[in-house]
Amino acid sequence: MPFRNIFGQEHAIDLIKQAILRDMMPHSWLFTGQANIGKFKTAVALTQKLNCKKFVEDACGECDYCSQIAEQTFLDFHVITPEGNFITIDKIRKSLNWLQLHPDRAKKRVMVLDGAEHMGHEASNAFLKTLEEPTPHTLLILIAESTQHLPETIVSRCQQIRFRSLSEKNTERILRMNTDLTSENIHFLNAFSMGSVNENLIVRLEIMKNIQQTAICWLNDFSAMNLEEMLRKCETWGKSKNEEWSLFLNFLETWFRDLTWILHGLPEEKVINRTISSEDSLNLELRNSAKYFNAQQINEIFDRIVKSRRSIELNANKSLSLESLCLYISRSASCKIK
Ligand SMILES: [Zn+2]
Repeated sequence: MPFRNIFGQEHAIDLIKQAILRDMMPHSWLFTGQANIGKFKTAVALTQKLNCKKFVEDACGECDYCSQIAEQTFLDFHVITPEGNFITIDKIRKSLNWLQLHPDRAKKRVMVLDGAEHMGHEASNAFLKTLEEPTPHTLLILIAESTQHLPETIVSRCQQIRFRSLSEKNTERILRMNTDLTSENIHFLNAFSMGSVNENLIVRLEIMKNIQQTAICWLNDFSAMNLEEMLRKCETWGKSKNEEWSLFLNFLETWFRDLTWILHGLPEEKVINRTISSEDSLNLELRNSAKYFNAQQINEIFDRIVKSRRSIELNANKSLSLESLCLYISRSASCKIK
């Protein structure tokens, strides 16, 4: 995927192009920014640009080198990713040996460390030596969500580029180009995308719709029957392997963000969960749900959502955590009514 096919990262790509043009490429770049916004694609595009058989401003994307780089079969392009939560020292050692080999065909060999924050202490130290003594004709690209979990010694030896979250216009453009989803589904995914395009979201469209439907029904009518249904779902979602628990928490975050928006009388076209159909049913449901809460309660609910996510990530029982959150929200709603 050449640079011209990457959307929303013009600022980052411009910096890279300037470095190429002025022949001031660093030995190592560090691309940071949230997941699924184009950091890895940019690393691929840069590798293509440096090795493309055609001497043009952007890689052609079609020659055999460009194709092999895109498919990750190019011998001088090496990508390291975590296994589970870690990039092991073994993997780093093997990759560092690869760096010592002579280039096969490339003008510039490229090694990408995608998920650099997943290196342990030992792996980081081994890697640091390579950063300190760069191999000629080799470019290192580290990719991380932020510099927070990277050793300062590594960060300071790389030239950092901060990638930006994607605007709604760009996520929509990417979804339209890469899927044959209907406008309604694209709009729905956009509401959940939070500034990035995650392939998992596309696969899980039906699951997300089911979560949204059940949750909206409950958030509009806190009857005992709806609460009971909601708690039943929490139990199922907590036990499922599809990470419904996380999608449900994402949904709640967008919903309560929208309620804040409505409570403050801000323009409704800015709400995330708005409908594009003429019937305006989703906006009605939001306005109805807003009647149950005041600003302070919504803030407290936000806190609870964040805490629930954190405790689940620390291994708390998913079903119980979701159930307890729903009970808390239901209790808040009944307080406002009285
Ligand atoms: Zn090419």
